[in-house]
Amino acid sequence: MALFGRVTFFKSAAVPEDLPPSAGEIAFAGRSNSGKSSAINALIGRRVAFVSKTPGRTQLINFFALDGERFLVDLPGYGYARVPAATRAPWEKTLGGYLQTRSALRGLVLVMDVRHPLTELDRRMICWFRVTGKPVHALLTKADKLSRAGALKVLRDVRRELASVAPGSSAQLFSSLKKSGIDEAEAVLGGWLGVERREPVHAVRTGKSLTAG
Ligand code: GDP
Repeated sequence: MALFGRVTFFKSAAVPEDLPPSAGEIAFAGRSNSGKSSAINALIGRRVAFVSKTPGRTQLINFFALDGERFLVDLPGYGYARVPAATRAPWEKTLGGYLQTRSALRGLVLVMDVRHPLTELDRRMICWFRVTGKPVHALLTKADKLSRAGALKVLRDVRRELASVAPGSSAQLFSSLKKSGIDEAEAVLGGWLGVERREPVHAVRTGKSLTAG
């Protein structure tokens, strides 16, 4: 089973008072339409996060429980022009506060479309977060949309830039469509939360090969 195969929806938080007690959590942030919900669903192996029809509308922090006390946290997508500034400002305060003061937060997964990495808003997110000294892992989604060579070039460039603005960060290619990059993401996220896959990746053998010889 996937590392996060047992994760289920837990609750939505609209204000800081709604945040549940937590022993450890990982937040997912990204521009609207970056592929964040699809990536969370791919990691969990089921549709638990809502793939957006109207990007940027949900201004809730959604908690998905790994067990009673550890969570994957889906932050609202940012950068959708039609959200009015009056709604955006208080929300940014809540979000910035969450990123900077949530002690249970182990690291930030920054989801970016591999074709449009490190936009101004992504950089702002990194700025909010790097003061904590906690790690950022960039998930470059929709890698299937570029050639392998093109995607690897973006990966190299993103790694280089992250190394200068957020030391200790990491990056990888990911495709929810092709289900690629899941093992790599599980290794990073599992490490942050202190959980491991229960069974070895290559445990499944055919009866024939087990009895042969
Ligand atoms: P969110 O707004 O960041 O949560 O993004 P969604 O997960 O809702 O995805 C936005 C759009 O990108 C949807 O049409 C998805 O089907 C598409 N999408 C998401 N991930 C991938 C991917 O890995 N490959 C491709 N080709 N399309 C994707």
